[in-house]
This record gives sequence, C-alpha cells and structure tokens, in this order.
Amino acid sequence: MALTTEEIRELRAKYYNATLIELFTPQKALWIFRVKPDKGLVPFKSGQYTTLGLGIWEPCVTGNGPETIKPGQEKQLLRRAYSVSHPIVDSKTDKLYTPTAIDFFEFYVTLVVNESSTPTPPRLTPRIFALKKGDRLAFGPKMTGHYNLDGTKKSDQIVFFSTGTGEAPHNAMIWQLLTGKHEGPIVSVVCTRYAADQAYRSLHEKLAKDYENYRVIYLATREANQPKLYPQNLIEQGIFEKQSGMKLDASKTHVYLCGNPSMIGRPEMVDGKKVYPKPAGLIEILEAKGFTVATPTQPGNIHFEAYW
Ligand SMILES: Cc1cc2nc3c(=O)[nH]c(=O)nc-3n(C[C@H](O)[C@H](O)[C@H](O)COP(=O)(O)OP(=O)(O)OC[C@H]3O[C@@H](n4cnc5c(N)ncnc54)[C@H](O)[C@@H]3O)c2cc1C
Repeated sequence: MALTTEEIRELRAKYYNATLIELFTPQKALWIFRVKPDKGLVPFKSGQYTTLGLGIWEPCVTGNGPETIKPGQEKQLLRRAYSVSHPIVDSKTDKLYTPTAIDFFEFYVTLVVNESSTPTPPRLTPRIFALKKGDRLAFGPKMTGHYNLDGTKKSDQIVFFSTGTGEAPHNAMIWQLLTGKHEGPIVSVVCTRYAADQAYRSLHEKLAKDYENYRVIYLATREANQPKLYPQNLIEQGIFEKQSGMKLDASKTHVYLCGNPSMIGRPEMVDGKKVYPKPAGLIEILEAKGFTVATPTQPGNIHFEAYW
C-alpha cells in the first residue's frame, strides 16, 4: 500500500537523526560519504561499526530488480551495519586529521542491486545510492564491535587484509596507528575486482611515501593486465614477504581481516573438530603459521570482520 506524502514526512521525522553532508562518487556503485549525526559524534574505537538506515518507503536507484514488500512492511526502517572509515589526511592542511578536527563519520559503501527479475527482500544500498547531499537518514545510536586495535603494542607488526569496502575499518585503524606514532611496520593489502574499485588508493600511496613504516599492496583480480592474485595467494606464494619486506612472525604480528567471508575462511566446529572452508581462507593459512584467532573472551592475533 503506497504511503501518503504526509505519512512519509512523519516517518522521516520520527526515524532520521543524521544528515549526509558530503558525498564522493569514485564510481556509480561505490561511494565514500560523510554523515553528521544531529546529536554530534558518539565515542568510538577505530575499527568499530554502527548502523545506517532508511525507510522501506524510500525510492531505489534505477536498475534495482523487484522486491517482496510484505503487507505492513511499508512503514519499516531497513538498517544495516557499516564500519566507520576515515579520510586519514585533512586535504586542507595535508596533515593527518587531529582527533578533534572531525565532526562527521565517513563510510565506504558498495551498491548491491538485485540484477535479476526474481524478487529479493528489500535492500538498503539501492536506497542509499538514491540519496544526495543534504538528505536525511537514520544513524545507529552507538558504535559496536571487537574489531579494533586493543591489545596491540607500539612495536608490533600490524597487517590488514581487505576485500572491497572491507578496507573501511582499516582506514580508521591506520589513522589511529599513524597518529599514535606506531613504531612497528604496518602493511595494508587491499583486494578488489577492478583497479577502479580502489577508491582510497592515491591516499594510501601517498602515506606509503610519507611514512617509512607503512606499505600498501593493491590487488585487482579481474584486470586483464594483472595476475589474478587473492590475499591467500600472496602468502602461499611468498609474494607477501617479498613485497612488504615483512616476515609473518606470529610472536610479534597482529593480522586484521575484513570483507568477503571466503578470504577470511572461518572454520566451523564439527564434532569438536575445526573444519575449514575450501579453498583455504586466511585463517587456515595463518593458523598454520602459529597465529590464533582472537575472540571477545580470548586474546589472539587474528582479528576478523565478515561483511556477510
Ligand atoms: C559488521 C559489518 C560491517 C559492515 N560494513 C560495511 C561497510 O563498511 N561497507 C559496505 O559496503 N558493507 C558493509 N557491510 C555490509 C552491509 O551491512 C550490508 O549487508 C550491505 O551494504 C548490503 O546491504 P543491502 O541491504 O543492500 O543488501 P543485503 O540484503 O544486506 O545483502 C545482500 C547480499 O549482498 C552481498 N554483500 C553484502 N555486503 C557486501 C559488500 N560490502 N560487498 C559486496 N557484496 C556484499 C552479500 O552476498 C549479501 O548476501 C558490513 C556488514 C557487517 C556485518
């Protein structure tokens, strides 16, 4: 049942508590955007996430296939989790952002459209990608998640592996490490399908020039002129050590994995035994090198955040 303009106005006033203040569109289906909550910033640890939401009543981008909207759902809010990203360097000063110089949260989001004619449950990203600067949305009340730098030491080696927009929390953590004058080496591996999906690349290449202890490695798995390498292949084929200059020594390294569950490769417990997905993900490869997964109750040096 279609809602009236007045009903939509009331629902927006009831749910929306933040404004999209800045929008960068490296690609039609890949956005970096900044959100300012009405009540100001909430405390957060680099690496954590919050939720963003829009009403099911909001329009979707052109090209999104059909959705099944059940009776009674028209007035509901769709919420999804989003890691907080970070611009790292203030373009006005060309220096690292100071903690108090930011009055927004930055997000890095990819559009997931339904490309088929089979209806899917309503999705949020086709609605986000129909927004424009100045539009309103719902911002989660707090930041959550154990994916952060707690437990790392200044001298530790820190390695980030991401696929696609899984780079978002790493940007916030890299900002924290550089701002805190981290002493150990930091390496970030970013894997996307195409080079055009690497929206923060020029920023990271500049950081790698400016900071002796920071290196970045970009992989694009569907570019005709590049080898099809996934983060797992980098380690298995010894390319990671050569390109980063870092030995993956479990006694002094923390590894962060974010994005596609296949890269992460979380094992399942079957009859008290770990069963790893095939082909091997990074957890299996790293555990074989002496790393252990950190859990909310047990310390470890593999940290991960799966996006689905
Ligand atoms: C803790 C956490 C943090 C997250 N942070 C981010 C983030 O910073 N940026 C971001 O783009 N997404 C992030 N996600 C995913 C996000 O919550 C949504 O699932 C995603 O934006 C798609 O939402 P949707 O409603 O359009 O489709 P959904 O119905 O939620 O998902 C439909 C399908 O899209 C695929 N999918 C979901 N997320 C992605 C993705 N990022 N890239 C490619 N395919 C995907 C999956 O196959 C999923 O089954 C995060 C998820 C979690 C759990």
